[in-house]
Amino acid sequence: MQDRLNAIAETARREIGGADDPGRVEELRIKYLGKKGELSAVLGGMGKLAPDERRRVGEVANRIKAELEGLLAEAVQRAEAKKLEAELKGQKVDVTLPGRQIPPGHRHPVTRTMDDIVQIFRRLGFEIAQGPEIEQDWHNFEALNFPHDHPARDMQDTFFVDAPWVRSTQPVLLRTHTSPVQIRAMLQTEPPVRVVAPGRVYRRDSDLTHSPMFHQVEGLLVDEGVTFAELKGTLDAFVRAFFGADTRTRFRPSFFPFTEPSAEVDVSCVICAGKGCRVCKQTGWLEVLGSGMVHPNVFRSAGYDPSKYSGYAFGMGVERMAMLRYGIDDLRTLFENDIRFLRQF
Ligand SMILES: [Zn+2]
Repeated sequence: MQDRLNAIAETARREIGGADDPGRVEELRIKYLGKKGELSAVLGGMGKLAPDERRRVGEVANRIKAELEGLLAEAVQRAEAKKLEAELKGQKVDVTLPGRQIPPGHRHPVTRTMDDIVQIFRRLGFEIAQGPEIEQDWHNFEALNFPHDHPARDMQDTFFVDAPWVRSTQPVLLRTHTSPVQIRAMLQTEPPVRVVAPGRVYRRDSDLTHSPMFHQVEGLLVDEGVTFAELKGTLDAFVRAFFGADTRTRFRPSFFPFTEPSAEVDVSCVICAGKGCRVCKQTGWLEVLGSGMVHPNVFRSAGYDPSKYSGYAFGMGVERMAMLRYGIDDLRTLFENDIRFLRQF
């Protein structure tokens, strides 16, 4: 009987050792170790053996059974590896190819322009100030000398916020300019104040040159004896640093509720250097900034004494600055997130 067992083991080793197909491996498991397999068939006759003989045969049979189980497990692994290899070959994966790179991005032209503007004013001694984008009517209008029924409010028609979480006794809105940051800065500290406030603002506008959301940089300087000459000097220095040393400035009288006197600031056209072109509408000048001396009523809102202090404020649209700097003629392209467009800057 032991001879027969050894003979079966001999054949089984050879057959299982050569098997690398899952179906074939299962076939062999049934053939040798199954209930009706060859091993069981031989052991079925063990009852006729003497007890001593039976124990010896039993030991041999168990050893062979363990060995074949081990060989079958190895065959299963071999079969799986072969199957995986075949699948990979089917997919034509070349594992020796270099990895795909995720190209590094860069700052958006608007962000870059805003950072550059702020950097120039930092060099001139201004600090960065910030305020909330959801603002109270008082900070956005009232404190800046826009009375309730003032027509200047219409120029900044905006989005009012009406939500259950608004806990304010007065209207709450998306700020229409960065100017409320002036008020917040003054309420927080005593003069001298020297701040720039970059940030997002919102208005109900949408066309080639207007977007419902855009960016502004606002500036405020308050101290004793500040004059309009300092405002001109500061903005002139800024414009030269931003557009180039040859750029000239021009101040035109204007109106803003929160400054008196007020001025629009033009720069000599950065496209045609003042000769006249399509961008400057043949005038040679581009309007880029609003500015003026802080209105006494604004000082009163912030608790400053207008007879003691004076100051100037200015503001600009960041998108406009970016468009002029990069020669972009449609504002909306800045917000479409088209990578082919953004990649150029
Ligand atoms: Zn021009």
